[in-house]
Amino acid sequence: MSRALTVGAVSAVAAIAMSAALSGFRAGQLSLFLIFAVLAVSLDFVWGYTGILSLGQLLPFGIAAYTAAKIATAAPSLSVPALIVAAIVGAAIAAGVGVAMLRRRPTAVVVGLLTLVLSLTLEQIAEQWRDVTGGFNGLTGVPRIGAFGTQLPDAAQDIGISVLALGAITVVGVLVSRPIGAVLVGIRSNERRMEALGYDTVRIKIWAFTVGGAVAGFAGALYVYRTSFVSPQIFGFALATNVVLWTLVGGRGTIVGPVIGALAINFASATLADVWLQYWTLATGVIFVLVVVVMPHGLVPSLQRLFRLPTARRRQPRLVRSDSHAVTTSPSVRRTAIFEAVDVEKNFGFFRLLDGVTLTMDEPELRCLIGPNGAGKSTLLDILGGQQGCQAGTVEVLGHECTGRRPWEFARHGVSRKFQSPQLIGDLSVAANVAIAAWGTRSSPWSLVRSSWNAHIPQPALEILERTGLDELLETPAGELSHGDKQWLEIAMAAAGECRLLLLDEPTAGMTVAESLDAAALLRELHAEHRLPIVIVEHDMAFIRAVADRVTVLARGSVLADGTVAEIESNPDVHAIYSGVDG
Ligand code: ADP
Ligand code: MG
Repeated sequence: MSRALTVGAVSAVAAIAMSAALSGFRAGQLSLFLIFAVLAVSLDFVWGYTGILSLGQLLPFGIAAYTAAKIATAAPSLSVPALIVAAIVGAAIAAGVGVAMLRRRPTAVVVGLLTLVLSLTLEQIAEQWRDVTGGFNGLTGVPRIGAFGTQLPDAAQDIGISVLALGAITVVGVLVSRPIGAVLVGIRSNERRMEALGYDTVRIKIWAFTVGGAVAGFAGALYVYRTSFVSPQIFGFALATNVVLWTLVGGRGTIVGPVIGALAINFASATLADVWLQYWTLATGVIFVLVVVVMPHGLVPSLQRLFRLPTARRRQPRLVRSDSHAVTTSPSVRRTAIFEAVDVEKNFGFFRLLDGVTLTMDEPELRCLIGPNGAGKSTLLDILGGQQGCQAGTVEVLGHECTGRRPWEFARHGVSRKFQSPQLIGDLSVAANVAIAAWGTRSSPWSLVRSSWNAHIPQPALEILERTGLDELLETPAGELSHGDKQWLEIAMAAAGECRLLLLDEPTAGMTVAESLDAAALLRELHAEHRLPIVIVEHDMAFIRAVADRVTVLARGSVLADGTVAEIESNPDVHAIYSGVDG
């Protein structure tokens, strides 16, 4: 927190110094453009970090502006409460929209269109509802910021607003520098992975949308004090698209980017519009296209990459050994089967993939699941891990009935999953990926704001990192790892959470023969030391011989055979299925 205070103090001094250095007119412009920067930062928090393309940040911004205008007109001395109420109103509006919209898991395009339409609808309502909003002309003559019966003079108000705007930007900057910032990036780049790690991603997205709404609402109130009026155009198309432009040009997913974008484009627009009024709209269009083509990540990230600035590196978590072994089979679970999938049926349209499959595990064992391509092995793991449901049959995992549950609930019960194609957070470092895996099963958004950057990692996950050399690559972005290292990282992540059942889909794909035998030894050790139940989908018979207690063969929609490796290898039905197929 002391760091936050320092940053806040520096911002305040910077704002005062900048305002003092500029002429009164420029200082006024600066305060207005900093308000726009706050709006852009609120969009960046929601879109750049969390991945929700909201074209409706004007909704909380505008409604809060009208609210603040009403309060300021009725009680000019109540500016501080008005600013607070505006932030609360912005949060409430965003929470309402977020709950109604995000729980249905819409695609990005639908979110964008829906929020834009809502904003434009509000423009119409504000025009029609004259008694409250003042109709087309809006509410004018809003008094300046005031308290105890006096109003701030113009120049002081400009400085005050600049300080408050920079304060709001700093608050968002501090938020994203906390572990929640890494989690939001995770949700943006791979929501499926985050859900499988135990994050209730919908809840976190609604939380982020709400925080973004509070910031936009605060900006809305500042806007009213700064301009002394508010009209329906505050919800309009022009401002909605401009906010996206500032954020995109400056650089999504950084806080500095949208601030620079908003300031640069607005100062340029204010200066050049006098000279070339008729060309300015055209110029913004050209800037937009140029940025998309030349610098798709925006100005700040491109410069950071170009000059390899250290600020491009995110804060890294510290991996510390956890005292408690998260990888355990808890006694409460041991009274029931580890999992029990009975008569499972899975259809895709008219195509029946799984037709009455029964797969159970009573005692912790190391089970391999084999079968020809397309037999439904990955789908069966999806059903055990909650990524997919099934049409008929019952599934119980670690003592919990599974129907209608989300993957994050499975993860919180102890189901850890490695997918067939590695699902990592490519933008984040190896350490951050492992830390996110460790935080996943115990975290709410606010606890991720407060918690430290230390991640308590259970011994087995640390062992995997050490034995595979990934502990030397902790700061490397996961997206830059070799395919084999990606596989290992994902296995380490699966072991880093609250792991009571490990589901691995083709863990050795992309590994050399030696590496895959190493993997077999490591998994056997994990299993033996912690009595950890493991299910592995594999093709490679050498690996299976080295690792498996028992093998289940899936073919033609049902279980073809089940037994020890030797039994399976001498089974003529299995030979028939695999004839012509290597391994
Ligand atoms: P395996 O892992 O044994 O190779 P999968 O479980 O990946 O098999 O999938 C088996 C088959 O199920 C695929 O070949 C595909 O035809 C079908 N399938 C899987 N997922 C879907 C889906 N979402 N929609 C339609 N068909 C699917
Ligand atoms: Mg598969």
